[in-house]
Amino acid sequence: MNATLTKTNLLGLTRTELEAFIAQMGEKPFRARQLMKWLYKRAENDFDQMTDLAKSFRERLKEVAEVRTPEIRMTQVSADGTRKWLLSMPARADATGGNRESGIGNSELQPPASSLQPDLQAIEMVFIPEPGRGTLCISSQLGCAMDCTFCSTAQQGFNRNLSVAEIVGQVWLANRELGYEAGGDRVVTNVVFMGMGEPLANYRNVVPATEILMDDLGFDISRRRVTVSTSGLVPQMLKLAEETNCALAVSLHAPNDELRDVLVPINRKHKIAELLDACWQYVNKQNARSITFEYVMLDGVNDKPEHAHELVRLLQGRPGKVNLIPFNPFPGTQYRRSTPAAIERFRDICNSHGVIATTRRTRGDDIDAACGQLVGRVRDRTTVRLGSKLISVAVQS
Ligand code: SAH
Repeated sequence: MNATLTKTNLLGLTRTELEAFIAQMGEKPFRARQLMKWLYKRAENDFDQMTDLAKSFRERLKEVAEVRTPEIRMTQVSADGTRKWLLSMPARADATGGNRESGIGNSELQPPASSLQPDLQAIEMVFIPEPGRGTLCISSQLGCAMDCTFCSTAQQGFNRNLSVAEIVGQVWLANRELGYEAGGDRVVTNVVFMGMGEPLANYRNVVPATEILMDDLGFDISRRRVTVSTSGLVPQMLKLAEETNCALAVSLHAPNDELRDVLVPINRKHKIAELLDACWQYVNKQNARSITFEYVMLDGVNDKPEHAHELVRLLQGRPGKVNLIPFNPFPGTQYRRSTPAAIERFRDICNSHGVIATTRRTRGDDIDAACGQLVGRVRDRTTVRLGSKLISVAVQS
């Protein structure tokens, strides 16, 4: 057997797990903290460079551990500075990659072994530079099963969850690619789970990943700058409120159940009233400022004044703000982007009734890096889409 396959991928271990790993090696706990800084803060993968660790310890680490990230297949840079990377992923998760799910939870959603191709698959990750901040948009799954009708990722179906290492590996890679140096200015100041996948359907891996992102020995990003975006998996939102303290964005997209049932099919299971109730509970538990509601602007579908008034009735006086996202088209879609005038009118109705609404500027559309355009390459998808299976699995996690 290839020896590297049995090495532990340190990337993806939380502080507690790294301490346990180090203890197993017979080393003192402070070694774990030193190692953690090298791994995440300094984005180092070469044990020889970890100069404050004893040479003998480094040699032993080389035998049993490694730092393994996804591989970059392609990089594209937009005229506006937005960068997109295509990262290849093995069709199957690797048990040493910080994957919390081997054999449990989502196993029903894994394709049968016989249908697997040796072929690699891919996800996309996007970096959006703005004055004073840099936002990295990362993926949590290979494909997505939520089946939102206006999203190109949905068209590919679902293959599998990403492991913790594959999730934090994206941030690690971006730091390296963007030339971040320890002690220098941060390049990635914000991380949003708004790439491919439904983060809360991969709860068991996403939660430790957020922990590593926010840990001061990890990537040390403040809790308000790590945002999990969900289409509305209510049970996981309630659990998240208890277990972590990152920011939450909710993909609302419609102000009534009739329309949301069509645009975001998970709404058939968890209606808007139940979803909003979970949002307000989240804010209370977390002592958070507010929830961000994403609202994609679809011409003639959800962008009329009456929709804006309905939205106002849902959110008035509540700790929520609305982020209007002009629809980004992709081949084969039935939708069109709302006109700038319709978007402005919608925003003004919200704002004039005390519901803060802003329009998200479209970035990177010349390289298909805008919201909802991330395609990756999910060839080996299962046919599982939103259905009783996904919902029951999601509820267990
Ligand atoms: N599954 C999660 C996160 C991924 S999608 C969620 O639903 O929130 C990130 C954001 O992009 C969501 O708000 C999603 O609704 C939006 N989006 C998806 N497709 C889009 C498109 N074609 N145009 C604009 N926004 C889109």
